[in-house]
Amino acid sequence: MAYRITEECINCGACEPECPNQAISEGEQYYVIDPAKCTECKGSHASSKCAEVCPVDACVPDPAHKETTEQLLARWRGLHPGKQPAQGTY
Ligand code: SF4
Ligand code: SF4
Repeated sequence: MAYRITEECINCGACEPECPNQAISEGEQYYVIDPAKCTECKGSHASSKCAEVCPVDACVPDPAHKETTEQLLARWRGLHPGKQPAQGTY
C-alpha cells in the first residue's frame, strides 16, 4: 500500500531525503508522495522510513493504493534497474 502525506504535515522536510525511491517532494501546501514510486520501502528497508522520521505522524498508508508485495517489488525493480531488492525488506 503506497503511503500518502496528510494535511498534518508541517513541511519540515525530514522525510524527503529518507525515501529510497525519491517518491517524496514538496507540494503546493505540504509534502506529497508519488504513489507510482512508493514501495512502502520494500526492496530497500524493513520499515517505512518516511513514517519513522515524521515528527507529526503525517505519513500513513493509503488504502486507495493497495498493492501486493510482488507488485511493490516489481515497482522497486523498475526504479532501480539492474539491482536486487535487499533481503529482509519484503
Ligand atoms: S514508504 Fe518508503 S518508499 Fe514510500 S514514500 Fe515513504 S520513504 Fe518513500
Ligand atoms: S517528515 Fe512529516 S512533517 Fe516533515 S515534511 Fe515529511 S510529512 Fe511533512
